[in-house]
Amino acid sequence: MGDFSMELNEDQLQLQEWVHQFSEDVIRPAAEEWDEREEFPFPVVEQAAEVGLYSWEFLANGMMGDKTGLTLPVAIEELFWGDAGIGMAIMGSGLAAAGILASGTQEQVLEWVPQCYGDAGDLKIGAFCASEPDAGSDVGGYRTRAVYDEATDEWVLNGTKAWITNGGLADIHVVVAVVEPELKSRGHASFIVPPNTPGLSQGQKYKKHGIKASHTAEVVLEDVRIPGSCLLGTKEKLDERIARVKEGKSGNAQAAMQTFEATRPAVAAQAIGVARAAYEYALEYAKEREAFGRPIIMNQGISFMLADMAVEIDAARWLTWRAAWLGTHQGFKNAEGSMAKLKAGRVATWVTERAIQILGGYGYVREYPVERWHRDAKIHDIFEGTEQIQQLVISRAISGLRIE
Ligand SMILES: Cc1cc2nc3c(=O)[nH]c(=O)nc-3n(C[C@H](O)[C@H](O)[C@H](O)COP(=O)(O)OP(=O)(O)OC[C@H]3O[C@@H](n4cnc5c(N)ncnc54)[C@H](O)[C@@H]3O)c2cc1C
Repeated sequence: MGDFSMELNEDQLQLQEWVHQFSEDVIRPAAEEWDEREEFPFPVVEQAAEVGLYSWEFLANGMMGDKTGLTLPVAIEELFWGDAGIGMAIMGSGLAAAGILASGTQEQVLEWVPQCYGDAGDLKIGAFCASEPDAGSDVGGYRTRAVYDEATDEWVLNGTKAWITNGGLADIHVVVAVVEPELKSRGHASFIVPPNTPGLSQGQKYKKHGIKASHTAEVVLEDVRIPGSCLLGTKEKLDERIARVKEGKSGNAQAAMQTFEATRPAVAAQAIGVARAAYEYALEYAKEREAFGRPIIMNQGISFMLADMAVEIDAARWLTWRAAWLGTHQGFKNAEGSMAKLKAGRVATWVTERAIQILGGYGYVREYPVERWHRDAKIHDIFEGTEQIQQLVISRAISGLRIE
């Protein structure tokens, strides 16, 4: 297991400082504008690409070049401290990359992951398409079909994906589709839809409550034909897996679930970044704002709230770092990734709401960033597994029972 340390190493401290600086100098000043515009912030992402923050190398270093597992959560917290909408625009392609890493062969990873990012001056974007209009949490209910055409060695995709970050805007769409309908989520596979493939189009673009700088849309797939090599993993492996499931032997390979399991500590870190932004702002405000002839923080009603906010943020961060560390060591035992994500989402929603309370009327208006942070926080209770789905995963892990 090696030495255990709760200290960040020199590289991580430097990275933390570097991302923080980028957030302070570039992201924060742009946050209000892109929230109002409700569009993908290309110029900001371009700047992130110029400094190497938006790149597959950054992700690879964070995911594979780090034995502690903490590098990515540390960087993501700083990024989302800057702004969650822009943070999501920078991190969204990482979901597609994670989808490719979860199911792809080494050659596929090397071919497609860099294409989810491109280079500064020639940005590319990735999207991970799992959820559907009638099936979000219920991954066994996906209807998007992938049918193999033996004559041409192509897969043909049909269906509609919902709520897709970067959907339709992306160059690379990673699509989870049903190969064997009777096997439900065990009959799924993931596919790459390469750039400009006919038949893939953007459906409605959603107008959202928060993280508005992140583009979210439906993705419509109509007779989308892709080469056999775009099945992530190999056809032989897929056939073997399906045969095993049909014999009742194996049941674990759920393409969407594998991706989400791996990304949960990262999503928890996002939530912590938002919570910390609101907490720090509220703390400073409470020291300066006077009522009844003294700073409002001098009332325990306010200072105790801030004390609780500090405790909750630290608790969420420790759960997240534990999950990230376990993810790179012996793996999760009691759904620690879900625990971190559940806690961090709740903490972000609660802390940002309390921050509004501390600012009073100023917390409620757009002139101040706190109401935006509250809107941005809530998504962390919903995407990549809702609160209830995390509870389901945790209760199954701790009980060993197939709780429904
Ligand atoms: C901004 C945004 C970005 C997103 N980005 C992506 C993306 O890039 N790719 C992608 O594939 N998806 C994405 N999603 C989809 C997201 O993951 C789903 O919205 C989420 O999984 C919930 O699914 P649903 O909306 O269909 O809700 P439902 O599954 O219909 O859930 C509705 C309610 O019922 C509860 N519920 C459902 N089942 C159970 C149960 N068994 N026990 C108890 N309670 C239950 C849920 O917790 C929730 O409260 C995104 C969503 C949003 C809003």
